[in-house]
Amino acid sequence: MQELTHFINGKRVPGSSGRFGDVFNPATGEVQAKVPMASAGETAAAIEAAAAAQPAWGATNPQRRARVMMEMVRLINRDMDKLAEALSREHGKTLPDARGDVQRGLEVIEFCIGAPHLLKGEFTDGAGPGIDMYSMRQPLGVVGIIMPFNFPAMMPLWHIGPALACGNAAVLKPSERDPSVPLMLAELFMEAGLPEGVLQVVNGDKEAVDTILDSEIIQGISFVGSTPVAQYIYSRAAASGKRAQCFGGAKNHMIIMPDADMDQAADALVGAGYGAAGERCMAVSVAVPVGEETADRLIEKLVPRIEKLRVAPYTAGEDVDFGPVVTREAQQRILRLIDRGVEEGAKLVVDNRDFKLQGYENGFFVGPHLFDHVTPEMEIYKTEIFGPVLSTVRAGSYEEALKLAMDHEYGNGTAIFTRDGDTARDFAHRVNIGMVGINVPIPVPLAYHSFGGWKKSMFGDLNQHGPDSFRFYTRTKTVTARWPSGLKEGGEFHFKAMD
Ligand code: NAD
Repeated sequence: MQELTHFINGKRVPGSSGRFGDVFNPATGEVQAKVPMASAGETAAAIEAAAAAQPAWGATNPQRRARVMMEMVRLINRDMDKLAEALSREHGKTLPDARGDVQRGLEVIEFCIGAPHLLKGEFTDGAGPGIDMYSMRQPLGVVGIIMPFNFPAMMPLWHIGPALACGNAAVLKPSERDPSVPLMLAELFMEAGLPEGVLQVVNGDKEAVDTILDSEIIQGISFVGSTPVAQYIYSRAAASGKRAQCFGGAKNHMIIMPDADMDQAADALVGAGYGAAGERCMAVSVAVPVGEETADRLIEKLVPRIEKLRVAPYTAGEDVDFGPVVTREAQQRILRLIDRGVEEGAKLVVDNRDFKLQGYENGFFVGPHLFDHVTPEMEIYKTEIFGPVLSTVRAGSYEEALKLAMDHEYGNGTAIFTRDGDTARDFAHRVNIGMVGINVPIPVPLAYHSFGGWKKSMFGDLNQHGPDSFRFYTRTKTVTARWPSGLKEGGEFHFKAMD
């Protein structure tokens, strides 16, 4: 059995707590590795070592730090297939999807090459007589980065990249479900020239997280995961005066107007609803067709597409649509919610509750499911299912559809499919959700914009990647300088009164 490690001061270090977690192969259900669960003492030591390494890194000029990012881009591209394979093996997603996971992380590292420009301060010449005023962006110091299982390359890279480019040291706590890729990325950072100790990877669970949250050394916390944990992390981090950005769960609605191209909408829904087995915070989990006729046409287009989906392990070829979910608990929870939907009276139009894959009977597979006639009071509507389950809520009008999306407690992403520019514009303007797609089902902003939801999908104020990340990982210091003039006129050595 493979025993994974932490990554401390530039190398892999075995755990010493004696506690381990299981890392599964979700396709077979077998335990393929043990991940060490750091004790409070191990975590605190990693934080202290990061604090020792940070000042020299923070004093390294931004262009040199950017060169580490530049080299990292080359190394990630070099190792793309290796990273994607390790990712699929622990997470279960298909290889093309795993490459996308690495690629979207890589793009944020590319963005971080612009650190010298992004870190430039502001300057006012002549703010008063002989007075100049300038603001500079300085690193926070040591930051804690606590990440979810569903994007084990992308999510850590979204945070490590900007945190390090800004001159911080980072203590990364990856998900205990798929910790191999973050360890590989830490090794690549060493190869790229990052000094030892600037990036520490501490594997573990609540004990490690709480140690990071309570540490007086840690100045900022970035968290991505489920909403209850995001809320907990935000309040505990804030209680000790830390800067925190905590990103939570989602229930993304896609509104389909009667004038939408129904084939395009159905294709988009299938990809966005079932891709990665629905384990994406930007997955579309609610389809809202406007009008009964639109709904009937949509369901008619969706059903054959969903029935054709190929669910299999990542090793079964590049044409697999999605793989297993991450754990047995996740599988059981999703199936329980599907039963609950049926009990509550929703119509299960595509039912794969008895889905089994020959040769992979112990894998954590869930077949694709489609519900129609879901209503807002149902549990399957309120809860983030995080599985291959799409719910259809029929709306009588555009206003009703908009209200549905707005009244939901989550506000990560949403989309509208229409040919009408006025409706699209009205929707984008009024909806209280952080990321909006117009005829785009998964509107994940590119690296140079920023990513973040509203309502219970985000606690804090600055978003992930883009210019916001450089704001989050730095604090502003403003200097007011007065240089009395006149000395250069020569020969006058009396102290002059300032004016
Ligand atoms: P999770 O909340 O279970 O775990 C996230 C991290 O928190 C892990 O590192 C875990 O070890 C740690 N953790 C879990 N419980 C904890 C506790 N009680 N105390 C301290 N730490 C704890 O989330 P997950 O299942 O890994 O990820 C899926 C969730 O992440 C979904 O809800 C998804 O929507 C969300 N997500 C959100 C975004 C976003 O940007 N908004 C992006 C990706 C995923």
